[in-house]
This record gives sequence, C-alpha cells and structure tokens, in this order.
Amino acid sequence: MSISVEPLRKILELEHKKGYTDSAVIGGLDRFLRNWAGRAIESITNSQQLTRFHKLHLTNPNYASLTKQQRKQWVSNVLDFLVGAEAGERDETQPLPVVSQMPSKPRVRTITPEGSIDSPITVIRGISLSLATKFNKLGVNTVRDLLYFFPHRHLDYSQRKFISQLTEGEEETIIANVWQAQQIRLGGRLSTEAIVGDETGNVRVVWFNNPYLAKGLPTNTRIVLSGRVGLFKGQYVFESPEWELAEDRELIHTGRLVPLYPLTQGLRPRQVRKLMKQVIDQWAWQVEDFLPSELKERCNLLQLPQAIAQAHYPEDEAVKDRARVRLAFDELFLLQLGVLAKKRDWQESQPGNPLSARTAVLDVFVRSFPFELTAAQQRVLNELLTDLQEPRPMSRLLQGEVGSGKTVVATIALLLAAANGYQGAFMVPTEILAEQHFAIISQLLSRAGHEESKEDYLHVYSGLLSRPVTVALFIGDIKQVRKQELQRRILDGDIDIVIGTHALIQKGVEFHRLGLAVVDEQHRFGVTQRSALRQKGFSPHVLVMTATPISRTLALTLYGDLDLSVIDQLPPGRQVIKTKWLKPEQRDSAYAFLRRQVAQGRQAFIICPLVEESEAIQAKAAIAEYESLSKEVFSELRLGLLHGRMPAAEKEKVMRRFRSGELDILVSTPVVEVGIDVPNAAVMLVESADRFGLSQLHQFRGRVGRGQEQSYCMLLAENPSEVARARLDIIENIQDGFALAEEDLKLRGPGEFFGTRQSGLPDLRMAKLSDVGLLELARNEAIRLFEKDPGLEKPEHSLLAKEMARVWTEDGGEWS
Ligand code: ADP
Ligand code: MG
Repeated sequence: MSISVEPLRKILELEHKKGYTDSAVIGGLDRFLRNWAGRAIESITNSQQLTRFHKLHLTNPNYASLTKQQRKQWVSNVLDFLVGAEAGERDETQPLPVVSQMPSKPRVRTITPEGSIDSPITVIRGISLSLATKFNKLGVNTVRDLLYFFPHRHLDYSQRKFISQLTEGEEETIIANVWQAQQIRLGGRLSTEAIVGDETGNVRVVWFNNPYLAKGLPTNTRIVLSGRVGLFKGQYVFESPEWELAEDRELIHTGRLVPLYPLTQGLRPRQVRKLMKQVIDQWAWQVEDFLPSELKERCNLLQLPQAIAQAHYPEDEAVKDRARVRLAFDELFLLQLGVLAKKRDWQESQPGNPLSARTAVLDVFVRSFPFELTAAQQRVLNELLTDLQEPRPMSRLLQGEVGSGKTVVATIALLLAAANGYQGAFMVPTEILAEQHFAIISQLLSRAGHEESKEDYLHVYSGLLSRPVTVALFIGDIKQVRKQELQRRILDGDIDIVIGTHALIQKGVEFHRLGLAVVDEQHRFGVTQRSALRQKGFSPHVLVMTATPISRTLALTLYGDLDLSVIDQLPPGRQVIKTKWLKPEQRDSAYAFLRRQVAQGRQAFIICPLVEESEAIQAKAAIAEYESLSKEVFSELRLGLLHGRMPAAEKEKVMRRFRSGELDILVSTPVVEVGIDVPNAAVMLVESADRFGLSQLHQFRGRVGRGQEQSYCMLLAENPSEVARARLDIIENIQDGFALAEEDLKLRGPGEFFGTRQSGLPDLRMAKLSDVGLLELARNEAIRLFEKDPGLEKPEHSLLAKEMARVWTEDGGEWS
C-alpha cells in the first residue's frame, strides 16, 4: 500500500483517547474514512490485503451509528489492519491488476446486500413505489440514474458566522442554541418563531406556515441555520432558513455547500437531500471507474466515485469544480470515442463512388444564376468537389447562416451527381420545406436548361446534360398510385434528383444508384438516420447542412464523424433586421405598425402562439387566431392561414398566393416554420416569443429581410421568465447567428440545444460550451486512445468498452 496510513492511525488513536465519541475529526469519522479509503483502495495491489480492506467497510463506514462497544472493536480491527498494511504483506497469492481493471463493484457490494447500481431505485431503503414514481417522472429509474441526478447548483452555506457578524441581505450560516421556540400566527397562518443565540448575541427566526417545527426545537437544542438575513422592525431576522440539528452527523442542509436539486411537485428538498446523501454514501463507491488510470493521471482527473460524491455534496468549491470537470470529461470523451468510431466505420467499411468533376456542366449551371457566388460559397463548393472525387464517401457538415446560400451550393453538387449518372436525394425536416426546395431547385435548373415537362411532382429539364434531368418531389401527401409510380421510377434510376422529408430514407424508398444525399437541418437528423442512408447497400456521399453555427471545436466534438465546411458570409446587400421585444400593452401599436407596412406594399408573417399539446390543437389555435385577426383586427386586409394539418395542396396554394402578393398577411403555426422565401415580406410578428429558443426565433426572423426593403421582427411576450427575458434581450441585440448560437448554448447547454437525445448521441449534462479547453482535451485523449486501441479490446479498456456500449445504445445510437 503506497498511501500513507499514518494520518488514519493518528486519528483512530485520538478517537480512542476521546472515548469513541466520533469527535476526532471535524465532520465526523465517516466522511474522513470514505475519503481516505477512496484513495487507499487504489494503491492496494495485494488480493489478501484487499479482502481484508473490504471486510472493514472503510469505503462505506457507518461509524456514527455504531454503539460505543462496536466502535471500540472496529477501531481496533482497523488499527490491526494498518499495522499489516504498513509491514507490507508479502504473501501474495495472486497479484491484482492495476486500478482501471479492478472490478471494485462486486467486492464492495457485500455491504449493500440487494441490487446493483443498475437496479431500479426501489432497491434503495427509503424509496417506496410512490416515491419511485415521482423520480421516474424526472427520468430517474435506476440507482445509477439517481447517482447522476445532479443538483443544478449549490448554496454556499459553508462560512459560519457569529450572530454579531451577520449582515442584512446576505445568505448566512450560524450555529446557535435555541432559547425558545413557539407557534405564532404570521399573516393569519400558523408559523414557528424561535429566538436563538450564540456567545455573541441573539437573533429571531421565523418559519412561515410551518407550526410543527416549534415542537422539534426544545430549549437548548443546538441548531445550524442557513439562510437570508432580513430586517424586521430594526431587528435582524432569519426568514424560513434551512435548518438542522447540530449533531455528530455530517450536515446536509446547512453549514456547507448545500445542493439544490431540480424538483417536481411531490418531492421535498429536504427529503431529496437526505435521500441523496444516503444513496451517495451507500452506492457511489460502487460505480466502476471506466477511465484508464494512466489517462486520469495525465489529465489530473478525480476518481469517478469521488467525483460523483463531490458533485452532490462537495467539500469545497475547488473539489466541486474538479468533480464537474471529471464528469464533463466523461461525457465529451465517450461522445468523441463514439463519433470517431462512426467516422471510421463510414469511411472504411464500404467504398464510395468517386464522381468526376464535369467542370463544363457546372460552369454553365453556375453562370446561369442571377447572382455571383460569394467567395465563401465558392470555397465551400471547392471543398465539396474535392471530397466528391474521392473514392471514400464524403461525410461533411455544411454550416451557414439562414440565407447564406447553402441550398444553392448543394444544388450544384446534386447536379454533379446527376452528371455522373448517379442519383441525388435532398432531405428536409418538413413537407412544406420540401415543396419549397423543389420549387427553388426547379427554378435554378430552368434558368440553365429548358423545361421539358412539368407535372405536379415531377419536373424534367433538358439542355443541361446530354440527357434530360428529372427532379421529383416525394412527400406523404401524394396519392398512393402516384407514389408507387415515383417509387418505381426512383428504383429504376429514372429520376435524378429526389426532394423529400427525412421519411425518404425511413419509408423504404429504394434508389437505383444513390450517389449523394443532402440533409438539411442537422439537429433533426442524427447519426442513426445517417447510418440508415448507408444501409441501402451503397455508400452515398453525405452532405449535412445546418443553419446553427457553432464553434469549430464544438462541431468537431458533436459531429466529429463529419468534416466541416462553413459559409461565413452572406450574399451582398443583406440588411440588418430591426428586432424589437414588445410588452403586451404594445400589441396595438404593433398591429398599427404592421398595417402601415402593408399600406406601403409590404407583406407580413404572424406566427401564432405556441400551443404545446398536439398538432391538432395547434391547428385549432391557429384557426382561431386567424379568424379573430381577419374579423376584428385586420378586417380590411387579405389574410392567409397555414398550419400542419392542412392538406399539402392547400398549403401550397396559400404559400403561392402569399408569394405572388395576393395575401398581405400569412398567419402560421410555429410548427410549419414558414421556411419560405418571399422577398416582399418585411414584417415578422411572433406571438408568445418567450416560449421559443433563440435559434428558432432567429429562424423566424430569417424569413424577412430577403428583399430590398428594411425589415422588422416584432416579438410579443406576455410574461417572460428570467431566462426568456435574457433570450429576448439577446435576440434584440444580436443579428449574427454564430454569436446567437454561442449565447443560446450558454443559456441552455449543448445537450438541449442540439437535441442530442433525438439524434442518438449520448446526453451532455455536465459539459458546457465554456469548456473549450476540456472539449479539446477530451477530443485529443479520445483520438489518442482510438489510435492505440480502436476496438477497445485491450484488457485495461474493458470497463470503458462496457461503458461505451451502455451510453451509445441507451438512446438508440449504435456503437460499432
Ligand atoms: P440557405 O439554404 O443557406 O438558407 P439559400 O441557398 O436558400 O440559403 O439562399 C437564400 C437566398 O439567397 C435565395 O433566395 C438564393 O437565391 C439567394 N442567394 C444564394 N446565394 C446568393 C448569392 N451568392 N448572391 C445573391 N443571392 C444569393
Ligand atoms: Mg435553407
């Protein structure tokens, strides 16, 4: 045993001297022992010693609850053990592997007889079925979930003050004697009032609406109080502070960094804290630390059990930070290992289909555009062309602000696929967007070529290639017969470019030779879906496009399986869209403004309030909004309505009318996201703007400002929360999507932002955007490990392999 046993021995000897009163260390022996044992267990390399060590239950001691006689016996046992450990027991029967492989769980488990950390939480003493149900609602099902159910923050009650040192308005902690506690009426409600004192003075304490407390606080009880110091009639008073008795036990509600857990109704903070403490003490030490110890040392990371314990009940701020770093590292590292594996898998398992450049064809096409490509578009196009000529399938993420010209670049690539005799697919999140892309791509092709025929779902252009180019729209609304015909023609290779929703790959549409798949809106199209593309028995090149700009490091971390291209420039002449957050009382002036804009010939969008329940209810709300607006507010104007429940033909009709200027105002549900391009639309009015995320608001705003006229975005918010207020302030002041995304991440955390849950990526809970350094560290370590042992086959990586399998399958992702 390489760790010094000296401190422990000294403490136990002191404890013996003090008559086994659990007073040798501040905070009690149990806490000290656990810490010491957590470190000690790592340095034991001798199996016999380890067995003895476990018999002492040092990692999970329960000294506080032993009788004096039991304490005496136990201390003597430990002292014996220490003597042996120091002498260095040489009678090794079998040497133990190093820490990382040491399956500590089963050994320690003897202490907690039932269940493993993957058992349902009902194995925990004190968790009844009904309590378990409440936790289940929070997504906490197993003991492991509970261990990873981290507080969202801590209150710092760690600095004890004397009563004479209290400051009004501060959160303070005191240790005091109760002089008197009684029930009183405060504001008509039975409450508790107490007078407590220490050697420097007295102070009044009230607990509103909690009369029962009085009984629990007899005179002379020693109590710890933590809370805000108020002033009442010139006297200091603690108002409903956290409290607990100053006993020998470790404090959990006061006098330390106290965890605040995300709660729902029916879970009381004190109850959860108490429970969590118990769970951590009993179970945290059984979590297997899956990181190789050599890596942990190099990166100076805490042990996993210690990190979990400290994330809940930290000893101080510094350890709390280290705990978070360890846990965030885990998330990023596992994520990174997974995406690296996917990338290798994608690029090496099946050969791709190199396309030849066909420069002449592309040249004619690009020259036919009514504008010049921006330098950024040109650069990205070159990156794509280089990739497409490789025999490895392209796997690229294209980032660019709304309206930066991604679709145009993607269309060029699709034509290249067609020119090489391959098919191309363009997939977007909604049917309306599919319809619009179909229109836009058709329009681009019709400029360079000649429109041969134009049926509702099928356009044919000649003059571009040596044969006609066929473009199809494939969406759910098509009549069955027509759909089957399209499906057959796609399979026959008779159709060059297919535009549709993500259902294209899910609904079993088969391609003859799919050479390039373009996917719009990354955050709704995860790794799993991308893999599905490949399972057509053919490895197409894949281009994923997103209007969510993120930092390079973050992109590499979250989408490390994709190469990255960025269009960081808008076409010339784009304007700043004036954005304003309006209070409810400004609604009338917003309407008046909108009316004036329409009078000047502009058009406007109104996004209906967000109704959560269902698309049907959403549609109903939109209809109601539309009716009241057209009857009561804008009776003199021409309004149109768009919602997800309308038949496609009708949606199309409304959009066409809006685009052609037959409508002044388009009232739309947020679900449709009105991904349409109407240059004359200059006003965007968003209802219940406080309920949207920044990126969504930015998407809405991107619908205007596409023409020459100054454009406006008005955001109505009834009663925004603090976070919503922050968002509205940000969107008012920041136009740049990149900066917005960074801000959004700060507010929300990456997991939520990218919807990693839906995309099959593991959750990110502890990792933050501000962790750029950690992101890079995790990525570098993952690359290093991946190079050494890509299949995680080495024995020292077996726990890691297990953990990978666990996190990457839980959310439907696959680890290959
Ligand atoms: P994104 O897909 O990035 O949102 P689009 O490709 O749909 O952007 O382009 C948005 C609008 O800008 C379209 O009307 C398109 O015709 C136009 N556009 C694209 N590239 C340019 C350019 N280089 N110069 C001028 N307008 C452009
Ligand atoms: Mg677009």
